[in-house]
Amino acid sequence: MAVIGIVIVSHSKQLALGVRELAAQMVQGQVAIAVAAGIEDPENPLGTDPIQVYEAIASVFSDNGVLVLMDLGSALLSAEMAIEFLPEAQQQKVYLCEAPLVEGAVAAVVAAAAGGDIHQVMAEARGALLAKATQLGVVSRPLSVVTPTTTNVESPTREIRLIVSNRLGLHARPAAQFVATAARFQSQILVRNLTRNTELVRGDSINQVTTLGVRQGHELAITATGSDADEALTALQALFANNFGEDNVALNSPPAFQHQVTPATHGELSGIAASPGIAIAPVIHYQRTHIVVTEYHVDNIEVEWQRLQVAIHTARQEIQAVFSQASLQIGDAEAAIFDAQLLFLEDPVLLEAAKERIFEHHINAEAAWQAVVDEVVNSYRILEDSYLQERVDDVVDVGQRVLRLLAGNALTNLYLEEPAILVATDLTPSDTARLDPTKVLGICTTSGSATSHSAIIARTLGIPAVLGVDAQVLHLADGTLMALDGESGRAWVEPESDILHLLAAKQEAWQTAQQEARATAHQPAITRDGRQISVFANIGSISDVQIAVANGAEGVGLLRTEFLYLDRISAPTEEEQLAVYQAIAQVLDNRPLIIRTLDVGGDKPLPYLRVGFPEANPFLGWRGIRFCLDHLDLFKTQLRAILRASVGHQIKIMLPMIATVTEVRAAKAILGEVQAELNQAGISFDAAIKVGIMVEVPSAVAIADQLAAEVDFFSIGTNDLSQYVMASDRTNPRVANLVDALHPAVLRMVQQTIKAAHTAGISVGLCGELAADTLATPILLGLGLDELSVNPQSIPGVKQAIARLSIVASEAIVASALQQDSAEHVRELISTSVTPPA
Ligand code: PEP
Ligand code: MG
Repeated sequence: MAVIGIVIVSHSKQLALGVRELAAQMVQGQVAIAVAAGIEDPENPLGTDPIQVYEAIASVFSDNGVLVLMDLGSALLSAEMAIEFLPEAQQQKVYLCEAPLVEGAVAAVVAAAAGGDIHQVMAEARGALLAKATQLGVVSRPLSVVTPTTTNVESPTREIRLIVSNRLGLHARPAAQFVATAARFQSQILVRNLTRNTELVRGDSINQVTTLGVRQGHELAITATGSDADEALTALQALFANNFGEDNVALNSPPAFQHQVTPATHGELSGIAASPGIAIAPVIHYQRTHIVVTEYHVDNIEVEWQRLQVAIHTARQEIQAVFSQASLQIGDAEAAIFDAQLLFLEDPVLLEAAKERIFEHHINAEAAWQAVVDEVVNSYRILEDSYLQERVDDVVDVGQRVLRLLAGNALTNLYLEEPAILVATDLTPSDTARLDPTKVLGICTTSGSATSHSAIIARTLGIPAVLGVDAQVLHLADGTLMALDGESGRAWVEPESDILHLLAAKQEAWQTAQQEARATAHQPAITRDGRQISVFANIGSISDVQIAVANGAEGVGLLRTEFLYLDRISAPTEEEQLAVYQAIAQVLDNRPLIIRTLDVGGDKPLPYLRVGFPEANPFLGWRGIRFCLDHLDLFKTQLRAILRASVGHQIKIMLPMIATVTEVRAAKAILGEVQAELNQAGISFDAAIKVGIMVEVPSAVAIADQLAAEVDFFSIGTNDLSQYVMASDRTNPRVANLVDALHPAVLRMVQQTIKAAHTAGISVGLCGELAADTLATPILLGLGLDELSVNPQSIPGVKQAIARLSIVASEAIVASALQQDSAEHVRELISTSVTPPA
């Protein structure tokens, strides 16, 4: 999301820079703040210059708008003139604000960082003195009750009365539409349920509108006060006339959000085979740990308020991300739950109440937030309305999401009393990473695909997973018995005994095969004709590296460092990263460690850095190296940490998402700068550290010869390469069949990359999920890869597969595979060419 730009105009450059410094540290550089201050006259530097103001506005201009804050006198004049220099279309989007410079700038950047629109940002700036005035007792803070605007000629009040005709009354979706419409107008909209004889409430507050308990047949009085009162009422009336877009005929369909306990089917569900293994256990719906809040005194209330705003903003982004997935998978009715949650987080009454608690009582953000959420929950509960009782869960859920973000990731482990199969709409990579495999025996979700990062982590943890199943599974009652087979991608609800027997036998065979493979996992992987292939691990944490070494990893071919950055509200510091890299290197005990620099974006959004969404195509967007080259501070911090960790260890650096030679050169130049800085500071590091790249973008394959001249090694990322070559989002189950790394189109790209690497005399590995598929092993050997890097659980099996093959036979299979016309035919070819072990 692009944010509002801020311009500070002052007579004094020092003053303006000081204000900018103060404001910028509130939002850690997330908001563009430009300064236009002082004049080019060494004798008399105090003054303002319209051209400077114009340039400052232009430098932060976006269609979202620019807010200009000025000190006094000629600053106003210069700002007004500067606007005249802008093209007419842009002039409309630049707002001069009378707010006090210091307080206004701080409040404005905080509101802008929280994603506020230009009007919200301006309102925050204007209200900035209120906190100070309240604290000094000059004014008392208004309570968050409805205070209707007095009627006058410029602000007429209009009223309409409407009968609600849609079957479920103002339940979540219509209430959400009502609030969103009311919030579009400048007029103040108030509403009262005449049938229930309620108080007047604010029309732009989802919580207040919901507590009206509006049912079919109820009469509402809606008033609008303000210059656009008539338009506002007309728009609201249209919603009622149109039945909020609902169809009253569908009397038998369940209302949105009603969690009906109706089993999906007693038969089979099919989905995507995402992580092998069998699980048989009762289902449990995924819910995050309930966070218990402790209240404490805070001195810096501004910072506290900002913490809360950032957490709320992040929560909104998370919900939006889930929502965009959910609406694809579970249809509008269920996805509407997310709409309601979003509106809850945008509710001005709720936000004002939370802010008031922080400012008046000097309490921490968690306690203030919990208190207002509790108030809403109680107000729903006392209404004795069955629909509202059900909504309580949603409110608690969204409230907990914000608390979880405020708490960082410390308190978020999923706690299960008994082993279970987890059922969910989706699991984020960080959700999945926290699962305990001794308690979570299986995962069944309605979204995701085999190369989504959640699936990759499930495999790392050895948790069987079936993804992309029918959304009906979400309605199963907790405790319903389920069986799933993560290899075939099938699940059974309340399976019959014959299915259970078959699965139990398969589970036993699977475990025996695993044990056999583990017995030889610590030996090198050598083909029958004597070629040794390095088998490395893909990891994301210290615990992963321990599993990897225990399973016979000869090194780490891919450390996905983004897992250090997820699920927190700020980036890890250099020291934090250093500690993790050193700990991993120590577990590896001189085995090589390839650390991939930050690869956020795609399905690993990072809300606090505004990466990953909302982008129309996040996988084609601001990802990996693209993002790092735009965030040099962040990138340099990581490189410093890697370099410092490299002393005495075999560490290599790998750059993700490389599409051009320019990117490699730019990244290497920055690495050079960091190395020079460390040298200057007398800090040691491995000066001969090797630098490689992921080859995962088609352009990189096309210019692999040029790229090979720049780096020390390649690692092919078939997860991304497949999705880009096949133009199919790797997280979308609808196109999952296309994202197939065994398609000859992808295999030809892999071949081209390996040839370029070997011609240039550099080594080439493959760290996509394809490397763990033992069916593909002959192809990978035949193509000539030097190293395979796989999830830790797959190491024994892959080593075993290598030992059963010869390079000569594998090359023959490859020659034919590259000529096939589909991935299916490649699979058939391999199955018929490789003799299964006796
Ligand atoms: C890949 O794209 O194949 C890869 C290994 O990287 P990631 O899955 O983390 O995008
Ligand atoms: Mg990748």
